[in-house]
Amino acid sequence: MIRIKAGGFKFDYNGSFNALAKGLRMNRGEILKKCSDAMLLRRLVQGIFAASTIWIGFRFYLFYQQLAAGAEQVVERPPGVEAFLPISSLMSLKLWIVSGDFNRIHPAGLVLFLVILLTALLLKRGFCSWVCPVGVINEMLNAVQKLLFRQPLVVRRWFDYLLRSIKYLLLGFFCWIILLKMPGSALKAFIYSPYNQIADLKMLVFFLDPSTPTIVTLSVLTLLSLLVRNVWCRYLCPYGALLGMTSWLSPWKIRRDAGSCIDCRKCTKVCPANIRVHCAGAVRSDECHACLRCVAVCPVKKTLQLSTRGHRFVIRPWMYAVCIVVFFFGSIGAARLGGFWQNNIPLERYRHYIPLLERFNHAHGGQVSEGRAR
Ligand code: SF4
Ligand code: SF4
Repeated sequence: MIRIKAGGFKFDYNGSFNALAKGLRMNRGEILKKCSDAMLLRRLVQGIFAASTIWIGFRFYLFYQQLAAGAEQVVERPPGVEAFLPISSLMSLKLWIVSGDFNRIHPAGLVLFLVILLTALLLKRGFCSWVCPVGVINEMLNAVQKLLFRQPLVVRRWFDYLLRSIKYLLLGFFCWIILLKMPGSALKAFIYSPYNQIADLKMLVFFLDPSTPTIVTLSVLTLLSLLVRNVWCRYLCPYGALLGMTSWLSPWKIRRDAGSCIDCRKCTKVCPANIRVHCAGAVRSDECHACLRCVAVCPVKKTLQLSTRGHRFVIRPWMYAVCIVVFFFGSIGAARLGGFWQNNIPLERYRHYIPLLERFNHAHGGQVSEGRAR
């Protein structure tokens, strides 16, 4: 093994001299710049989506408050809030497929659900690390964890596999109920029920006035996230499981050129999903969420890339950032123009339902449990 020092950058080398020559073409400054540029880009995109989410949440809160107070409508309901209703969106997708009915109860939810699935199909699980606000919170908790403990708790490989199966079990449960058990008529009844119509408002009230079990659950999740990395995303999120499965079909993968790789293992060290990138030809793991940290940190040019087979089509970090922003906002724009964004629930119906929110219960077929509403 040869120990190399170059431009203040040190690494151990035991590969071919061709690779060594390539490795030395970048100095420490270039590597750090490349890394920070890519990470900065991801932070920027995360910031754009996080700001949009906060803006949507704030407007939805104002919308609710003005109706609850019986005031004139000033703020319109932001349809983007439907992104937080993935189960309703899965139902809408099935109803659309089996009956051709693209319902106008939560059309934005279905549009966003399709966009997110398509992102996974084309751009891997990038939604998790570039768009999802829960992913941002997760990364913040990871940063706090680093400050507090330096090293996260290491979960043994077999236990990690066991825990990772939880999100697939949850996904399987929802798919079994919705895709296999529910006939089209039951789906239609649910989607057009008052319960589903005001599911977004119920969700808001749920978080504005959390019950004791909700507070306990969120606190336990936060504490666990401070001990173990990515608890929610890695072990519990059924949406992540769905995207992980879909991303297997993506032609783009993180691909390593074994010929030029100098086995420095930086890629493996930075991977937040604990993937052994340095020994993979192509990363096929469902846990790869296309954060591109490994690509950014690799010191050898064109050795690690997000590309199709044979590196025919390579997506560089800046292209990925542009693709994901244009794809999301372009699709939303197209849905707006096509009339697939705003729902058709009249304002008067919201006014009628708001005082009855507490009484809506899907256990009663989406009707008010004491029979006060239609
Ligand atoms: S393999 Fe690379 S892109 Fe995938 S999660 Fe790990 S660091 Fe991120
Ligand atoms: S692929 Fe990984 S191990 Fe190989 S040179 Fe790049 S960072 Fe180092």
